[in-house]
Amino acid sequence: MPNWKPIVGLSFSSKEFDTYCHALQWNAWRPSFIVLHNTAVPTLANRPNGLNKNHIDNLVKYYRDDRKWSAGPHLFIDDHKIWVFTPLTMSGIHSPTWNKIALGVEMLGNYATEDFNKGRGAAVRENAVAAMATLCAVLGINPNTMKLHKEDPKTTHKCPGAKVNKVDVLNEVEQLLLLRHGNEHSVVHQ
Ligand SMILES: [Zn+2]
Repeated sequence: MPNWKPIVGLSFSSKEFDTYCHALQWNAWRPSFIVLHNTAVPTLANRPNGLNKNHIDNLVKYYRDDRKWSAGPHLFIDDHKIWVFTPLTMSGIHSPTWNKIALGVEMLGNYATEDFNKGRGAAVRENAVAAMATLCAVLGINPNTMKLHKEDPKTTHKCPGAKVNKVDVLNEVEQLLLLRHGNEHSVVHQ
């Protein structure tokens, strides 16, 4: 597919990511909700130190050159950092039904088998919750609209793995929003 959307290719702590997102402007395209994924391959075990720039560059080759897509998901989140892949202000490609209306957030790991509640999986989860709380606040998105990739009727991927409990993740995003913003988050960013 022509017209590859160049990636951002920057990594942030959750705090830095919050600052980064507050400076963005969604003029041409504005997402309505978030779709949560896990990479499955690579697993956490495949990436003992998380993702680096080389891995991100290889993902560009995969989506652009092998799959011939115009974009990929928006974020890749590991146990250390939040990597911005496709610009958050442009539509990505990650979930057939929802590409035009949703952000795609990938978590490093295969949560069919790897632990999501402790160790490195818990660190990935914590970064993902923080990133989703930021995106919900900045875009005025209700966290309860979040979808798992496997909820897309047009996909056969069991993504993310069953250890990712949607209700638990939603509750954590909601709690973090309340912690950060009190009750004002639902009105100030409209
Ligand atoms: Zn997925």
